Amino acid sequence: MKIVVLKFGGTSVADVPQIKKIGLKIKEEVELGNRVIVVVSAMSGVTNNLIDLVKRTSDFPPYSEYDNVLSTGEQVTSALLAIALERLNVRTRSWLGWQIPIVTDNTYGKSVIKKIETDNVLTSLEHNEVAVVSGFQGVSSENKITTLGRGGSDTTAVAMAAAFSADRCDIYTDVDGVYTTDPRIVKRAKKLDIITYEEMLELASQGAKVLQARAVALAMKYGVNLRVLSSFEDLPGTSIIKEGNNMEKSEISGIAHSLNEAKITLSGVPDQPGQAAEIFGSLAQFSINVDMIVQSSSINQKATDITFTIPETDLLTAEKTIKKIQKKIGFNKFTSDTNVVKISVVGSAMRNQSGMANIMFETLAKNQINIHVISTSEIKISVLISSDYYELAMRSLHSAFGLDI
Ligand code: ASP
Ligand code: MG
Repeated sequence: MKIVVLKFGGTSVADVPQIKKIGLKIKEEVELGNRVIVVVSAMSGVTNNLIDLVKRTSDFPPYSEYDNVLSTGEQVTSALLAIALERLNVRTRSWLGWQIPIVTDNTYGKSVIKKIETDNVLTSLEHNEVAVVSGFQGVSSENKITTLGRGGSDTTAVAMAAAFSADRCDIYTDVDGVYTTDPRIVKRAKKLDIITYEEMLELASQGAKVLQARAVALAMKYGVNLRVLSSFEDLPGTSIIKEGNNMEKSEISGIAHSLNEAKITLSGVPDQPGQAAEIFGSLAQFSINVDMIVQSSSINQKATDITFTIPETDLLTAEKTIKKIQKKIGFNKFTSDTNVVKISVVGSAMRNQSGMANIMFETLAKNQINIHVISTSEIKISVLISSDYYELAMRSLHSAFGLDI
């Protein structure tokens, strides 16, 4: 029996007419003879409202109760969709994470899936029922509800596809696929027909919001046949494929930007072994992700400057943490800047093409855009620049890398 997983994001289930409409799409899939697992997000805006409710109740809510509140958004949509399907004479039932169960670890708010029991859902599928699953949630070993982090319904969908060896996993959303860059900023952005897992993972990690990065990593690990499609228009979408199946691809696949960045510089750090370990170790304790790092070489072997970036949302915690160890480390000054944006150019052909970095730096230079920090991976070059110029940078890079045509 062929199993397909269809995932519908918040804008696709934004209101009752939308929910009824995707009911029809699901019915079509059933009539093709497929066993269907549907994963839904909360109606758009609902998760933000739930977070707001918790914040207004307490500054320090117990993590598990926080997750319990947040998970309710998806409970509503899965049940409403099951009701809509029932009206269309499609046999169905809704599933919460704990009913399947989707078992996670105990890190509330960003839980990791440990295993998915398939027996219960399989029996239901064998009875020709569509399984409508609440995305974003699971259950911990403490028998409490957990959530998978913002955008986590994508991860639920991919994990279900992997666990049930689904034929394909279609992610329905409000755009018709993955674009070369953000079309709201660069008018000439184009939809990609295909993109490799690695490229998609880099783009998602560097700020492209169309898929949760974790979901892409999971799809890559299990070879899940993943597509991104529009739930509003009947268009082919973007397929995420294995590297090697991409003969016709151009060098650069896309340009991502991330606004949630803060740059920190510690000046006059004594040039001794163990300093970086001390600084970054202290941030790791608070699960603060350090991204780009540069250390200037010391002229007199006495002191260096260390500059690095973290998510802007973690700046206050980072500042407190680092200032606490200022005496111990003995640096002179802490400075931070949030008026920065990270721009990343991604493409797997970069591996065997030289000169990509050169094109990037020359283009920025021509436009008088100053680079604060640079970092690279095998298939990505990122630069940190002032936020005043990020739209100009994206447009000129899009054209310099031949993506405009
Ligand atoms: N509702 C959750 C969120 O807004 C999960 C999701 O939509 O994927 O982050
Ligand atoms: Mg999403």
